Amino acid sequence: MASQSRPPVQIFFFPFVGGGHLIPMIDLSRLFASHGAASVILTIPNDAAVFHKSIQRDQESGLRIHLHTLNPPPDSAALHTTDMSAPPLTDTSCLQEPLHDLLLSRRPDCIIIDTFHRWAAEVIDATGIPRIVFNGNCCFSRCCHHILETHLPHNKVESDSEPFLLPGLPDKIELCRSQLPISLRNGIEFPGKSKKSEQNSFGMVINSFYALEPAYVDYYRNVTGKKAWIVGPVSLYNRNQEDKAERGQKSAIDKHSCLNWLDSQKPNSVLYVSFGSLVRMSSVQIYELACGLEASGKSFIWAVGKILEIEENKKCFPDGFEERIWSSKQGLIIKGWAPQLLILEHESVGGFMTHCGWNSTLECVCAGVPMITWPLSAEQFYNEKLVTEVLKIGLSVGSEEWASWNMERKVVVGREKVEAAVRRLMGDGEVEEMRRRAKDLAAEGRRAVEVGGSSFSDVDALIDEIFNS
Ligand code: UDP
Repeated sequence: MASQSRPPVQIFFFPFVGGGHLIPMIDLSRLFASHGAASVILTIPNDAAVFHKSIQRDQESGLRIHLHTLNPPPDSAALHTTDMSAPPLTDTSCLQEPLHDLLLSRRPDCIIIDTFHRWAAEVIDATGIPRIVFNGNCCFSRCCHHILETHLPHNKVESDSEPFLLPGLPDKIELCRSQLPISLRNGIEFPGKSKKSEQNSFGMVINSFYALEPAYVDYYRNVTGKKAWIVGPVSLYNRNQEDKAERGQKSAIDKHSCLNWLDSQKPNSVLYVSFGSLVRMSSVQIYELACGLEASGKSFIWAVGKILEIEENKKCFPDGFEERIWSSKQGLIIKGWAPQLLILEHESVGGFMTHCGWNSTLECVCAGVPMITWPLSAEQFYNEKLVTEVLKIGLSVGSEEWASWNMERKVVVGREKVEAAVRRLMGDGEVEEMRRRAKDLAAEGRRAVEVGGSSFSDVDALIDEIFNS
């Protein structure tokens, strides 16, 4: 724990406004407060309303942690209506003035900002306050991206489906061009100034733990020359049921109904299905997924999220699907936000069908549960390789097409592929070895955040460095 005798280091946390980036940053700020820092979370009114209860509980337990609301101007509709599913390109630049004024009046020792506030680096750097970047990824995916950008192996293949090797990585990792972000395929930089802002920062803070990807943490630090503190898994900071059940958003299902349904199932028998906070699947894809799940005969709990609202006029489920799976107790459908941590940690859950968003992936590792990987966009195809080929705790459904959250997909993963993957993961045999490895990693993750663990030490090291800077 960082020295108790000196005044607390004051750190501002400036999370992005959407789910997959906002949630871990809130945990990060609580984690630093638990190490003696004075954490201030800069947030917008909608998000403050979501997190204030858990922050209040932290305050009652003696942590120095506060929410500071930055008020967007009344005409910035996007930031007044945003929720957990805010897309990565949401423009937050109307917060520039309130942020600037606050920094000048309060002068924190450091600010940790989300990379999606693309305008913020210049504003902060002009104040001279040390700036650390959080971008929500792991080291493995950052190494993959670095190799792709510097060696361009995808330009040397004839077609989008021809596999190519990522040269120089510690493991043999292959991808196809169709699995890469469109911007990378076309040699266009991601909009804004995120890359430059990382280069000029004090360093990066990463939600992972050393024992999960040691070769890639070392590679990232050595080859890219970046200063990085590996401080996760941050989700482990949520220890009580309230924090877990309310994390991110109020659940669309009552906690007790969800747990009662899981209690009625056998250990390791339920597949949890979720594609994150943002993802919208077409009605055709949902239909195929529903058919495959039902045909597998395995139990499942499916967080369909907002999908059905978007596609409300189209047929998403086969006739009678919901009634059949409910009355046979094969499945539970959650239309809206699911209490993901509670579900993953339940002993009945034996598998997770996931889009490989980094938070979901790491939360699954922490629960010691093997995965069916179904990457869709962002860096999810890299994460799939980590899960299936490096850690060997999952199998792929066979998703081949990278598409942004708002793009129409050309390829549908058919019901046969879904059924086969579910039967394999939720059957006996090969999964036992995966489950054993997943449980070992979960134990390593817990050790990393305990006193003396690698992540625990990195949090203290960062606090010391800020203090001495
Ligand atoms: N999440 C949740 N309930 C839901 C959907 C998502 O609690 O119904 C949480 C999940 O636990 C994770 C985050 O939202 O912490 C999603 O982040 P991830 O990186 O997995 O995916 P993204 O939403 O960024 O695509």
